[in-house]
Amino acid sequence: MASYKIFLLPGDGIGPEVTSEVEKVAKVIAGAGLASFEFEKGLVGGSAYDAHGAAISESDMALAQAADAVMLAAVGGPKWDKVPYDARPEAGLLRLRKDLGLFANLRPAVCYPALADASALKREIVEGLDIMIVRELTGGVYFGEPKEIIDLGNGQKRAIDTQVYDTFEIERIAAVAFELARKRGNKVTSSEKHNVMKSGVLWKEVVTGLHAKSYSDVKLEHMLADALGMQLVRWPKQFDVIVTDNLFGDMLSDVASMLTGSLGMLPSASLGAADANGKRKAMYEPVHGSAPDIAGKGVANPIAMIGSFGMALRYSFGLGEAADRIDSAISEVLASGFRTADIKGEAASSISTSAMGDAIVAALQKAL
Ligand code: NAD
Repeated sequence: MASYKIFLLPGDGIGPEVTSEVEKVAKVIAGAGLASFEFEKGLVGGSAYDAHGAAISESDMALAQAADAVMLAAVGGPKWDKVPYDARPEAGLLRLRKDLGLFANLRPAVCYPALADASALKREIVEGLDIMIVRELTGGVYFGEPKEIIDLGNGQKRAIDTQVYDTFEIERIAAVAFELARKRGNKVTSSEKHNVMKSGVLWKEVVTGLHAKSYSDVKLEHMLADALGMQLVRWPKQFDVIVTDNLFGDMLSDVASMLTGSLGMLPSASLGAADANGKRKAMYEPVHGSAPDIAGKGVANPIAMIGSFGMALRYSFGLGEAADRIDSAISEVLASGFRTADIKGEAASSISTSAMGDAIVAALQKAL
């Protein structure tokens, strides 16, 4: 039986609460003999700052590098609003992404039928939705140089951000999207703004070239990023895999997140380049933050975190079937009416974080 090293970074706020539920689910998968997991725990964000004066320590960075997968819950909170900029909680997250070379951010937006009424959109538009947004995470305008504010000396200042992409960066993110599409609905929508941006012209050219060379079996369409934003709320079920740059991906994936109802439902994966054995560095985390408003109350929804563990099974450990079982267990529990407070809707009552974890564990045990 294969054994995997998972480095757990519960972080701040509700992080430790939702992380405990993942450990329960992992025990069930291990108990069914599908794999065994070796968990190591570290500190990131505010909790790391309190312990070491940095958003992540060097020894925890070394453990993250050595792990088969990193699972991070969330960082931040008002307690650390005034810490030095380089030690702010998010710096730990950015360091992990940068040092592990995690260039591909995968954000599924799935609408469980039982929650279709929790979406801001009409049931028929979102029910059964299952799309994947692939966002380039380490390039583009968030990192391009120059990046500065210049004093023009005449009472004016000039702010400069630089949108920059090289061929290899576009090629490798597009390849991730095409590979994913082959295992899903076999369609990729590539999005940029080639009508007004040179980086968009190159993006479209490189994606088109890679498609012709290696992925012509996958359906490819191009859509301008502004039009895609509109289509995401008009008829999102037309999409399968969307691939786009760092800036557009940031915005479009947040739009997509609202199609599904609650932040507490959304997992994500960030992947690095494949090594000679096809193995990638990877970090899995819920999309939500540390939710300081509900931290310590035992009411947080653990589904995004459990779903992130499912993504680790699928994308790091080759256990797609076990990941499917987790998704089905979540779907079954929701269909049976179990709700945490954030997805309560019209339900009469809601259950705690650990009760939701237990319900998913029970459904999973039956399915394995
Ligand atoms: P947030 O995601 O923490 O919370 C937004 C709202 O959603 C809150 O009302 C919260 O209670 C609710 N919510 C979030 N996750 C939930 C869950 N699992 N179950 C139930 N309800 C949930 O975003 P915010 O309030 O803007 O930020 C709070 C802190 O988290 C800030 O310090 C911010 O910087 C940080 N943050 C961290 C990450 C990350 O670690 N990746 C992401 C976003 C925000």
